[in-house]
Amino acid sequence: MPNAEAQLAMRDADARHHLHPFTDTQALNSKGVRTISHAQGIYVWDSEGNQLIDGMAGLWCVNLGYGRKELIDAAHQQMQVLPYYNTFFQSTHAPVTALAQAIAEITPGDLNRVFFANSGSEAIDTVIRMVRHYWTLKGKPYRKLLIARENAYHGSTLAGASLGGMAHMQSQCGPLLPGIHHIRQPYWYGDPNGISEDEFGLQRARELEEKILEVGPDNVAAFIGEPIQGAGGVIVPPRTYWPEIQRICRKYDVLLMADEVICGFGRTGQWFGSQTYGFQPDIMSMAKGLSSGYLPISAVAVGDRIADTLIAAGGEFTHGFTYSGHPVAAAVALENIRILRDERIIDAVAKDIGPYFQNRLREVLGEHPLCGHIEGIGLIAGLALVKDRQSRIFFDKDIGTLCRDECTASGLVARACGNRIVLSPPLVISRAEVDELVNRLREALDRTYARVAGMTGA
Ligand code: PMP
Repeated sequence: MPNAEAQLAMRDADARHHLHPFTDTQALNSKGVRTISHAQGIYVWDSEGNQLIDGMAGLWCVNLGYGRKELIDAAHQQMQVLPYYNTFFQSTHAPVTALAQAIAEITPGDLNRVFFANSGSEAIDTVIRMVRHYWTLKGKPYRKLLIARENAYHGSTLAGASLGGMAHMQSQCGPLLPGIHHIRQPYWYGDPNGISEDEFGLQRARELEEKILEVGPDNVAAFIGEPIQGAGGVIVPPRTYWPEIQRICRKYDVLLMADEVICGFGRTGQWFGSQTYGFQPDIMSMAKGLSSGYLPISAVAVGDRIADTLIAAGGEFTHGFTYSGHPVAAAVALENIRILRDERIIDAVAKDIGPYFQNRLREVLGEHPLCGHIEGIGLIAGLALVKDRQSRIFFDKDIGTLCRDECTASGLVARACGNRIVLSPPLVISRAEVDELVNRLREALDRTYARVAGMTGA
């Protein structure tokens, strides 16, 4: 552990030189940054020696947990053999070829070809460019509009922020990319209107049809969605939602794109969230869990319909990145997939630890006065924090951040998304660790409740 003086110097250097992502630098510098020093399994430690359960698996990505020797060894070995080479100019290398094949095998349907990038945002940009190019090659260059959802997160590049539905991001980076429309999200609990979840799912899906008709079916290239909206607060769609979205896309020949950056690689109990929710995307973005976050890598899995057109038309697809299919990241991702497969980790998420996690949350916290609703599947969950459980009244204060800070004080990394607390622990979490996570969360909720009651005099 660094001594107090070294810690202070580091904090000072960070404050003077480091601009953090999604951060109010002034607020951060007045609070002081926390240094994470090391990690093992589901735990991280800060420089003051506090141990925290990482209930967010980093940023929804460390699916295999920290300290997996096989992943470290895969990187080390690949570094020695071939630390870098590009995949442009008629070149390839063993790890990227094997990884493309492995992704083609685990993805559903005819997603047989893979394009590599480095981040979820780059994968999203790739998807946009590919589907727009596809329609031009099909002789329908006017088919360029994209439809996404409010409160969606599709990355932080200009294209990702434009496609996503986060108003607070869009207000800073306009003018946005043109040709993008949004429909409402399928957040049943947040929209109390007396109808059943199933009916609500159908209604929200049918807003896609209305939008397609409004802008003209012949102008729409694709619809995109996260199977479960993650950064939007873990908004789990009603079961009826995705099959209806798929039906509408097929009816109007609109391409269906799944953003699997969070849901992919086992989080929902199947390899991909689209499998859990019963739809077949034409094209799919993935990142995070692809390498368990050990190295940056993302990919776009492309269905035959799009890939065959791109290939048959000949000509160069003028897109790619220096590090597309980076050999070291690819070797780690390949080993990550092997472990997920050989250790049957995704099966356990579906049948054992996932249901255990979901049940424990509901058993221990379901009746908590602050907890209006818990939704989730596998190892992803969102809790709505409410002022009044009966009437589903939300707080107008930023209760999420307050609760998130109480989680940290209780030794749990959780995340606040508005008035929701979200969780996505490593997939390798044990039952005893789930119990510990839920206990720490209950402590944090109790303390938040005490503070809120004090604030409102309730
Ligand atoms: N899509 C989704 C669904 C995401 O959750 C994220 C990141 N949270 C992204 C895209 C962007 O990924 P990255 O931060 O790696 O660019």
